[in-house]
Amino acid sequence: MTAPVHTACPYCGVGCGVIAGAGGKVTADPSHPANRGRLCSKGAALGQTLDNKGRLLHPTIGGTRATWDDSLGLIATKFRRTIAEHGPDSVAFYVSGQCLTEDYYVANKLMKGFIGSGNIDTNSRLCMASSVAGHVRAFGEDVVPGVYEDFEEADLVILVGSNAAWCHPVLHQRLLAAKAAHGTKIVVLDPRRTATAEAADLHLPLAAGSDVALFNGLLSFLKGAGRINKAWIARHASGFEAAVNAAGPDDVEATAAACGVDPELLEMFYEMFARTERTMTVYSQGVNQSSVGTDKVNAIINCHLATGRIGRPGMGPFSVTGQPNAMGGREVGGLANQLAAHMKFDDPADRAALTAFWNAPNLTPKPGLKAVELFDAIADGKVKAVWVVATNPADSLPRSDRVRAALAKCPFVAVSDCWATDTTALADVVLPASAWGEKDGTVTNSERRISRQRPFREAPGESRPDWWMFAQVARRMGWKADFAWENPAAIFREHAALSGVANNGRRVFDISGLAGLDDGEYDDLLPVRWPVPARFSGESGRLFGFGGFPTPDGKARFVATPYQGLPNRSGREFLLNTGRIRDQWHTMTRTGLAPSLMAHTPEPVVTLHPGDAAALGIEPNGLVRLSTDEGEVVLRADLRHTVRRGELFAPMHWTDLFASCGPVARTVGARLDPVSGQPEMKATPASLSPVESHFHGLLLRREGSALADLCHWVRVPVDTGQLYRLTGLRALPAGDDLFRFAGLLLSVPMDAELLEISDVRRAVLRIAAIVDGALEACLFLARDPAGLPSEAAVIPMLGQPVPDPARSRLLAGRPYDAAACEGPRVCACFGVTRDAIRHAAVTHRLRSVSEIGVALRAGTNCGSCIPEIEEILRDVRMPAG
Ligand code: SF4
Repeated sequence: MTAPVHTACPYCGVGCGVIAGAGGKVTADPSHPANRGRLCSKGAALGQTLDNKGRLLHPTIGGTRATWDDSLGLIATKFRRTIAEHGPDSVAFYVSGQCLTEDYYVANKLMKGFIGSGNIDTNSRLCMASSVAGHVRAFGEDVVPGVYEDFEEADLVILVGSNAAWCHPVLHQRLLAAKAAHGTKIVVLDPRRTATAEAADLHLPLAAGSDVALFNGLLSFLKGAGRINKAWIARHASGFEAAVNAAGPDDVEATAAACGVDPELLEMFYEMFARTERTMTVYSQGVNQSSVGTDKVNAIINCHLATGRIGRPGMGPFSVTGQPNAMGGREVGGLANQLAAHMKFDDPADRAALTAFWNAPNLTPKPGLKAVELFDAIADGKVKAVWVVATNPADSLPRSDRVRAALAKCPFVAVSDCWATDTTALADVVLPASAWGEKDGTVTNSERRISRQRPFREAPGESRPDWWMFAQVARRMGWKADFAWENPAAIFREHAALSGVANNGRRVFDISGLAGLDDGEYDDLLPVRWPVPARFSGESGRLFGFGGFPTPDGKARFVATPYQGLPNRSGREFLLNTGRIRDQWHTMTRTGLAPSLMAHTPEPVVTLHPGDAAALGIEPNGLVRLSTDEGEVVLRADLRHTVRRGELFAPMHWTDLFASCGPVARTVGARLDPVSGQPEMKATPASLSPVESHFHGLLLRREGSALADLCHWVRVPVDTGQLYRLTGLRALPAGDDLFRFAGLLLSVPMDAELLEISDVRRAVLRIAAIVDGALEACLFLARDPAGLPSEAAVIPMLGQPVPDPARSRLLAGRPYDAAACEGPRVCACFGVTRDAIRHAAVTHRLRSVSEIGVALRAGTNCGSCIPEIEEILRDVRMPAG
């Protein structure tokens, strides 16, 4: 690498700019308007994920190394034959919000324009499809009206179903900075008391699925309080009366009862909204991932239309996307129900223009199958060939066991990815894809800002970009001239030009002003917010403040959203909510490589209220069986008052490669929003029961792999190898079987030197395997967790030389240097543990986050850990009892 390269973080929809410098060091880009020099813990650890270890390096067919030519030729042949025999709807692409816009554009053009099917959908369906549908219903087009500067301009920011402190940390930091500067009020509407709620002025822990009731209640309250902006509505919106009638009476008590919140607090919130002109409502997965997600979105938008608070400084509804390029996918038609460039399936002028622009022989006449429907169609044998790109549906889609079964029986599956996943294991053809740092293209963040993702390192092995793979397959299917781009710049120019075709102000998405960029200008492109030219938005980038909605009459639409009641529990005691944790991303293919990111939450848990745990006889940190109509998983119980009685939270990230339970998605149902097709992932009826633990263990190995079903296990990458936490679901084997069992776990070479201590009667076994004088693996088993050494003591020994005098210390689990044991790591950026923060607070009487920052540096970089530091300080300050 020569000069530092300005590029964009590959994780969330905030779309922060980063600078890749010498030695793979990744730092925040102070010049990028999204983050202005900030990064969160995930972005700060990007440099730790650049290792090529474990990357897919060569194409394979049936698990055997193959050439690119053979692999691409096989995909083209299989797709061509399947289409010839069964028609274009018998094939499909399932792509990803990780794809760059250029990748997405080529895939969509191939499927919708040339193959002639709408069967291309994206994992963004799981993320924000309800927002897309809500925008189209209200505005006539999928457009986010606001900009990030609104976080600084607002006087009141309402976060709905959004744990921004963990999931969009840099935006949350911008909000907290605004609060510190001029007292912005923050209200959080979330069933859980999250880190975001901790930093809010008011938290309303509404019952899961009651958001529509709450915003309908707000609409009626605004009307009752005379806070409706009638003049704005008369000029710029229609359908108000129907919406307010559907919202029901202005009755705060009844609404509070429906939502399960304190009526006084609810009224306080309604009053705040009513009297604060500069109000923005920010929402993400808690709103979108719902069987009534589109209604939730429109119930929120209705309140902003009713007050005319949209598209002006500090006000408006604001959907924050989960993925780095969900918005870019929406621009090119990456969802099955979208055409390219925000054109419409049912608009003859759009269809004619797109056919002519693409020279498309076979423009699809209709939308295709949405994600969950698509995998159902594979299971039913209707879709017979599928290409999965940069996503892992075997772990991330609801009912993941059904998805696996569908892929296993599908006649032809191709997968392109950077690392092996539970999905690549089911593929006939696996293609090695370029990863972040190697890819070249653009992404669009939640505020419509297009940023360049630039390469700064060589792609390993034979890995190639996804756009190239799609273009190569298209050429082999007979469409050489139409897929002849030589580089991403050429694709971007075509995409930008298309956005201006047959537009004339009919569609807000217009970047035709960028269609003339030459390759050098594309390389140098600075972050830019669409539309370009800024025909609708003006300099501020905001949209719709003065109307101009892309509907036939130029008016926005209120949408009637009658409340349908709380989710049906189907006779089960709990509703299961799944989501993200602070330091992990998706199915951990990248973040799982960074030990610092594993330290905050090292294993999958299910969080429940202590009162519910007591009623069921569930112990803190005990194992529990989580069961739903779809499946079951065994997880560790995490008891907290932060969740409501009768509700559960479990993280979505773990897979078969990291834990014996596999993905929690195998328990998640697939009730779909009827408009958006987005599955409900926040309220699956569930049951819990305690699981007896027969023994406990720690296993350290240099190499990581799944442990099959030997016991309950979780793999945690550490600096020099892998730590496994083991729990026995059955009694330990006895006699020689115990040693055979230990041998399977250790999995070391035959010539390894073994040190061993055992007391079979007390079920204690300690074995260390030494290869070439260094610790290759070690295993500690005990009936009681107190019989195990501290993880922090043994982890540093892995891979290190074992001096003869230290052998007894090794099996005793005592560090050679007698270093102090550590607790969980709170600050991922500087590796500061909970114990260290607590110790400093108590010993040195530190009472503020800034004092902790001065003493330990914790919380001074990305800020993601500040809510937890505050929690520790509160604990320290709280008198005993
Ligand atoms: Fe990346 Fe964090 Fe910024 Fe999201 S907030 S884009 S994860 S640095």
